[in-house]
Amino acid sequence: MKKEKVIKCIGCGALVPDIVGPVHKYLGTSPGCWKLFGDILAKEYGDPEYMKVHRLTVDAYAVQHIGVEGPQTIQSINLHLLALCAALEHGVTYSFIPQIMNDRLNEYKGVFEWLDPPKSLGSITVVDATKAKTVEEHEKIIKEWARDTWNAWSKHHKKIEKYLEGIDYR
Ligand SMILES: [Zn+2]
Repeated sequence: MKKEKVIKCIGCGALVPDIVGPVHKYLGTSPGCWKLFGDILAKEYGDPEYMKVHRLTVDAYAVQHIGVEGPQTIQSINLHLLALCAALEHGVTYSFIPQIMNDRLNEYKGVFEWLDPPKSLGSITVVDATKAKTVEEHEKIIKEWARDTWNAWSKHHKKIEKYLEGIDYR
């Protein structure tokens, strides 16, 4: 059997298939990693049970793939970290999080600052997430992935928490 050639993803550092293909507009990702992420999204969109943790999947992936410094990247990192903070630290229902992100975007557009990325963006990656064989495994690994990436950004937690001040979580 021919062994698939792998390369290190420019974003998360995971070993991903060395392929030619599309990437996201402003996330810093290699085509092979973007493809694996697409596979996971397809799994989630295809099954409501897998879809339950979709919020965390998107946020974990986004904060692990930092693009070139610019307004879109700055906005993206801040909003996805906000989302992780709301979900993991405040137990906000996932379906309520887009509303919080929208609301904060309206309030802080142009105010968000570049967050100097940590040296390590976490040890769990999209490659681990693709290994889940059951809904339970999927949910477990996505939650661990989200927690791991959120923890990786700990030096900016205070700043992110500030943007969430005044939100009624009930
Ligand atoms: Zn990656």
